[in-house]
Amino acid sequence: MSAFDAIVVGGGPNGLAAAITLARAGRSVLVREAKDRLGGGARTAELTLPGFQHDICSAIHPLGVASPFFRSLPLTDFGLQWIHPELPLAHPIDGDRAARVSRSLEETADGFGEDVKAYRQVFEYFCRHAESLLEETLGPLHFPKHPLLLARFGLRGVRSAKAFVDRWFQTDEVRGMFAGLAAHSMLPLDQRLTAAVGLMFGVTAHTKGWPFPRGGSEQLIVAMQRYLESLGGQVEVDAPVESLNELPSAKAILFDLSPRQLVQIAGDELPARYRNKLQKFRHGPGSFKLDWALDGPIPWTSDACRRAGTVHVGGTFEEIAVSEQAIWDGQPCQRPFVLVAQQSRFDDSRAPQGKHTGWGYCHVPAGCTVDMTDQIEAQIERFAPGFRDLILERHRMFPRDLEHYNANYIGGDITGGVMDVWQTFTRPVARWNPYTTPSPRIFICSASTPPGAGVHGMCGWHAAHAALSRTLR
Ligand SMILES: Cc1cc2nc3c(=O)[nH]c(=O)nc-3n(C[C@H](O)[C@H](O)[C@H](O)COP(=O)(O)OP(=O)(O)OC[C@H]3O[C@@H](n4cnc5c(N)ncnc54)[C@H](O)[C@@H]3O)c2cc1C
Repeated sequence: MSAFDAIVVGGGPNGLAAAITLARAGRSVLVREAKDRLGGGARTAELTLPGFQHDICSAIHPLGVASPFFRSLPLTDFGLQWIHPELPLAHPIDGDRAARVSRSLEETADGFGEDVKAYRQVFEYFCRHAESLLEETLGPLHFPKHPLLLARFGLRGVRSAKAFVDRWFQTDEVRGMFAGLAAHSMLPLDQRLTAAVGLMFGVTAHTKGWPFPRGGSEQLIVAMQRYLESLGGQVEVDAPVESLNELPSAKAILFDLSPRQLVQIAGDELPARYRNKLQKFRHGPGSFKLDWALDGPIPWTSDACRRAGTVHVGGTFEEIAVSEQAIWDGQPCQRPFVLVAQQSRFDDSRAPQGKHTGWGYCHVPAGCTVDMTDQIEAQIERFAPGFRDLILERHRMFPRDLEHYNANYIGGDITGGVMDVWQTFTRPVARWNPYTTPSPRIFICSASTPPGAGVHGMCGWHAAHAALSRTLR
């Protein structure tokens, strides 16, 4: 008899999502986590000075409130509090201008001058059908329940962000703002499917908001752990898994890990052909991250930037396109596109009174060793003069530090593998059910499966359902 119905290796958001789904279905489950706390890409720590709580990886969680999996959980009963900043996003442009993205589509569009009509036309229909759109897109390829909606989304989204803005938008503000949304793909902006990423982030801003958990992203994990334990699930931390032999017996093992680690740990149980395919899985560019302890809030000149939880710093579409192309050409850009979050403006638990935190990163080539501190801070200073004078302490993470922190971030790749047209739908390998492997007891549930990167839990949720229907019936 097996000690557990299922063991989940890795306690990131997807591993926990898988464990919760299994426990909810009445199965006994154990999560084995390498580090001293659960969370993976969603953890919080005093990285700079005492009393300053920084999100080590993920900070802003549109998909934490939007994903069908998270919406099905009673996490507020387990201590989670979402904070919605006044504006989800602002995007400054030189000349004291900024795109202001609010929860209201109407209000946002009204601020977009010549692009008012086009902005409404692009987003209105998808915002009206946001629930169905999220349901259709946050998972593997399947027969759609809403074929017309998906076809319409596909026709627009399959384009590159470049083709998309050239077709729809004229103003620097909206073109630049859309570039920032699409750049979350970490792909060159003239690549197909980058428009879909921009559209989805826009839709979530208007329909769900871009919130973050009070106290830090780890609070989402703390609530998930409490809920899992209330269902009878068990957790072991400080328990890295190096081979299947060291695990208690279980009918199913789900890996919240990269394909490379899956091969290292479970390769003996997988046929050579499948192993080879896993080894061909492509990882993308890296990230260079900074966290700041600040003597005051970031002094943006634009009012919109002061009111937003997230500020995309990179200027016009053309500038951001150059920055994102450069990382694929092997050289980080001197004026990088920087994603900035300023949680302490809206959450007084993040820093001592009167002080603030800042979170920012830019994309760089995989494994890049260039120190991007000056370039990132110069970009913020460009739109917030006096920013540097407020820095009390900074903490930096090169791609190698990200990989050291979490073995899933190979070369500093934070998306769990390239999310281009091919690999988005065939991650980690092309299979009818990508969460299964040729071994009936081994499954993969990390961001290296559809729908990919982000704290949405959908990879774990789909993988748990695969295990329930295949092995744990
Ligand atoms: C700098 C940065 C910024 C980001 N910003 C955002 C954001 O704002 N919003 C957002 O939604 N997403 C963001 N992300 C992405 C998000 O963090 C990831 O997509 C998400 O965490 C993936 O979840 P996961 O469960 O698949 O894997 P992970 O979070 O990587 O979790 C994997 C877990 O497995 C553990 N593990 C690894 N190897 C072993 C082993 N051998 N044995 C046992 N345990 C092991 C790890 O310690 C980790 O806890 C960001 C990521 C980074 C790095």
